[in-house]
Amino acid sequence: GLKLLANKNILIMGVANNRSIAWGIAQSLAEQDARLIFTYENERVKSRVEKLVESIPGAVLLPCDVQNETEIDQLAAYLSEHMGVLHGYVHSIAYARPEDLEGNYVDTSREGFGLAQEISAYSLVAVARRVYPLMTEGGSIMTMTYIGAERAIQNYNVMGVAKATLEASVRYLANDLGMHGIRVNAISAGPIRTLAAYGIKDFNGMLKKIEETTPLRKTVDTAEVGDTAAFLMSDWSRGITGEVIHVDAGYHITGM
Ligand code: NAD
Repeated sequence: GLKLLANKNILIMGVANNRSIAWGIAQSLAEQDARLIFTYENERVKSRVEKLVESIPGAVLLPCDVQNETEIDQLAAYLSEHMGVLHGYVHSIAYARPEDLEGNYVDTSREGFGLAQEISAYSLVAVARRVYPLMTEGGSIMTMTYIGAERAIQNYNVMGVAKATLEASVRYLANDLGMHGIRVNAISAGPIRTLAAYGIKDFNGMLKKIEETTPLRKTVDTAEVGDTAAFLMSDWSRGITGEVIHVDAGYHITGM
């Protein structure tokens, strides 16, 4: 029979290397026969991402730095010309200055605050604005968030505030785009050792605490996030929009 995502064109932004959550998501979507379009941030990561993308038959790779409006326009133009219809968009992008991911949130600079908001939250809106008109058969948009949006987590600081913006954006976008049959959701993942996680102080301590205390007594991996993403991209989740789904081994329900 047909796989869950057969004949669906899905844009994935945020693969930097094979540890990226976006790469785990790509594996799950490819497994369900989705047609994938990847983007990479800049020349620094290009060759690494290229090698990964080559392993997925039929996948396409395009440049897109989300701080660059022209590159977003070019991405949308490419999709419009070569794909026609888009069915899914996976946003897995975040950035904050390392110095803003330690110490006290109260010390956050104006520039650091703005940068984290722009790259980690506004980028979802900037791309959604360009690609939702291509979702003429309905669509599914998703992003990646973290419990630091809901609670004050040590060292997460400015990124927690950016994630709060991102989660609120998910609800506003869901409300705007629902009339076009487009759903917008987020996955709130437990901590996973990726490139982005290297910026967060005492990440190891966090993982250890989770193994000892979460309901499932384990940390999550990118495959678990990927399979939830496949569900969100598929018609199986057709009744869900504006939601934040926790893929965190149950951490968020505890009183830790
Ligand atoms: P990652 O470093 O592999 O991915 C982050 C991606 O953001 C990279 O591909 C990077 O190139 C991209 N990026 C940064 N600035 C960009 C820009 N200006 N233009 C285009 N792309 C840009 O790390 P990850 O952990 O896979 O992060 C993916 C998402 O998951 C992020 O939103 C992150 O906050 C979120 N998340 C991560 C964890 C975790 O513990 N790793 C937990 C919950 C949520």
